[in-house]
Amino acid sequence: MSLKTMDRPVKWKGALNGSQDAREANAWHQAMEQLDRAAQKIRLEQYILERLRHAKRTLTVSVPVKMDDGTLRVFEGYRVQHNLDRGPAKGGIRFHPQVSMEEVKALAFWMTMKCAVMNLPYGGAKGGVICNPKEMSIGEIERLTRRYTAEISIIIGPDKDIPAPDVNTNEQIMGWVMDTYSMTIGYSAPGVVTGKPVDIGGSLGRREATGRGVFYITQELANVKGFDLRESSVVVQGFGNVGMNVARIFAQHGCRVVGAADVMGGIYNPEGLDVEALAEWSNKHDTISRFPKGRKISTQELLELPCDILIPAAMENQITHYNAHRIRAKYIVEGANGPTTTEADRILAKREILVVPDILANAGGVTVSYFEWVQDIQSFFWDEKDVNARLKDHMVRSFRDVHDIHTREKVDLRLAAFMLALRRLAQAVRIRGLFP
Ligand code: NAD
Repeated sequence: MSLKTMDRPVKWKGALNGSQDAREANAWHQAMEQLDRAAQKIRLEQYILERLRHAKRTLTVSVPVKMDDGTLRVFEGYRVQHNLDRGPAKGGIRFHPQVSMEEVKALAFWMTMKCAVMNLPYGGAKGGVICNPKEMSIGEIERLTRRYTAEISIIIGPDKDIPAPDVNTNEQIMGWVMDTYSMTIGYSAPGVVTGKPVDIGGSLGRREATGRGVFYITQELANVKGFDLRESSVVVQGFGNVGMNVARIFAQHGCRVVGAADVMGGIYNPEGLDVEALAEWSNKHDTISRFPKGRKISTQELLELPCDILIPAAMENQITHYNAHRIRAKYIVEGANGPTTTEADRILAKREILVVPDILANAGGVTVSYFEWVQDIQSFFWDEKDVNARLKDHMVRSFRDVHDIHTREKVDLRLAAFMLALRRLAQAVRIRGLFP
């Protein structure tokens, strides 16, 4: 590309090639549509857009694991660093049968944008392994984690790229990541990973941070829209780290959580679910859908329940052109990454259903991960009250930054969040210039 064309603002190409279904199912295409739209709106220089349309580094690794029955299985894993202009890369590790390079690239891109919306000194990354941990023993999961970590250790590190938990990974798995990396370098490096147990340098409040952040953002939404959160009904899709903590924190603050679901099905009680009992049930059973005090429903039905606030907290591509017409929530607050497709966004906007986007709504996790990393580097740990107060500050400030753009420039909240992130990111790219 010539230097001249590098400065031209980009035209939003809108829909990409291919059928609508294929497009909606491809998280990277969705992410690029969001990027193009925001780039056009802020008249981003073409050369910066071009750089952001490519991940800086993509690593594919094969992960050989000795299974309990003595056989050897080779899993495929990925680590993607989308952008490093604002600081080291940051992003979770996912273990799931549907992981793909396209998905990991999209998730890494969203991390770049999320860290910029929150003004954290990080770029974006993500990792994943194609596997089904539900069918593996603890020993197999540990060996998979350790070998995957060893394979990606050439690009991770406290100053380079700091993983964290995501779908089907947890504190224990982060502990193995920290131990494996520390073994390869010969000393303990707690700052290489966040979301690890408190006993080895984890942060108080990290476990609940994403859910708590979703709550703080929804509180701000209620303030600007003038409704009482305590009078609101809430539906949560996904009952893992994010979904369960969302349900508990909203219930603790007096909201009526009327529906919840995991991958196997959902449960509905218009009077309000007993969330603490449901969380206890979920720890002891393989699904919440058989919880006795409510009506069993499918996960798809759950998304279409009447409620004030719908919180998708499971996977991408849940609200699409198929069901967006039938959503009956007044507000959608995205606990998951990429749960709403761009086509669904258009339908919801026409129906005046306001969507608070993932890169703002679920940023509490990465924010407390940042606090954890800072505490590790300083070897000085904060109490939980301090962590939660700082988290609230960050969430409220970013909500206001995004909301200001939303009202001033008359754009939806997703576009506003992307515009804010892109402006910050573009400035870093301009200042750093192009090497060599
Ligand atoms: P998790 O593995 O702890 O839980 C995932 C939950 O979603 C499980 O209850 C699972 O049964 C359910 N689920 C999966 N597919 C489903 C489907 N089709 N319908 C209904 N439920 C389904 O994962 P998590 O860490 O809670 O992550 C959930 C989402 O939040 C992901 O999009 C993740 O990227 C995002 N996120 C996580 C964090 C974090 O700190 N863990 C931070 C920000 C965003």
